[in-house]
Amino acid sequence: MWIEAPIIIAGPCAIENQFMLEETVHFLNAKHLHLVRAGLFKPRTDYRSYQGLGTEGIPILSYLKQKYPVSFISEILDIRDLDRMAEAVDIFQVGSRNMSNYALLKELGKSGVPVLLKRGMCATIHEFACAAEYLTGYGNQHVILCERGIRSFDTATRNVLDLSCVPLLKKMTSLPVIVDLSHSLGRKDIAAAMGRAALACGAEGLMVEVHPSPATALSDEKQQMNFQEFDEFLNFINMGE
Ligand code: PEP
Ligand code: MN
Repeated sequence: MWIEAPIIIAGPCAIENQFMLEETVHFLNAKHLHLVRAGLFKPRTDYRSYQGLGTEGIPILSYLKQKYPVSFISEILDIRDLDRMAEAVDIFQVGSRNMSNYALLKELGKSGVPVLLKRGMCATIHEFACAAEYLTGYGNQHVILCERGIRSFDTATRNVLDLSCVPLLKKMTSLPVIVDLSHSLGRKDIAAAMGRAALACGAEGLMVEVHPSPATALSDEKQQMNFQEFDEFLNFINMGE
């Protein structure tokens, strides 16, 4: 595998300012967690919602990379941003809404940059595996697959976390598979239990949203864990100190 397991990706839904990101990186760094979510561009359903700092956030990432041993993961929406983002982004996330954006996948495939590909919210496992082949088929083996829940009728969770996706993808591809507990569940009270389940069925890692002050977060405030909740989460999945 091109990346070492367990792949624990934590950090805020979106970067809001330098201070909150530095606080989070500092906290995670002390736990030897170096893969940090740092959303620059946020694909929001409502255009009035917080859209992220965009390229203006890149100097914040560059500054923190000089200060801490950290790798940033951030979603790319437009291939024209690739070079600019590559100054500070280590893994390019393709979000659920863009899993079937084959033009984007082809370009990321050719570029060879590390990509975290999320499952489309209405995509079958077969469609997900085929989307991954756009990356690998165009020459990029640096790919992580991420189950993030699929749409269904039940509103108890934000999406329905389909753990069968994990062992099935592992039969279909040799790529690492992780589970995004935050966007699949949309709640944090059952994240630790489902995190254990995801690892038990073979996931190579987990993604969790962590924010210094979830109640005041500009996006996904209900599902982001504060530092203490994340500590408890790590202990429950036996990755605490
Ligand atoms: C995210 O991880 O920031 C995100 C928007 O998730 P998804 O694409 O799975 O909805
Ligand atoms: Mn989010």
